[in-house]
Amino acid sequence: MKSVICPVCGAKVMLSFNAKEGDIVTCQKCGARLRLIADGNGFRAAVA
Ligand SMILES: [Zn+2]
Repeated sequence: MKSVICPVCGAKVMLSFNAKEGDIVTCQKCGARLRLIADGNGFRAAVA
C-alpha cells in the first residue's frame, strides 16, 4: 500500500489504492490536512 510521510509530524500516512495527485488526506496522528503531489512512482505530501 502506498503511503506518504506527514510533513508536520513525520508519521506515515497510508493512502487508498486509488489516491491521485491533488487529493486531500488527513494525517491520523496529528490531524494535518495534506495535499498529494505526484513524485516518481508515488506521492509526497504538502500541507493543504
Ligand atoms: Zn501528521
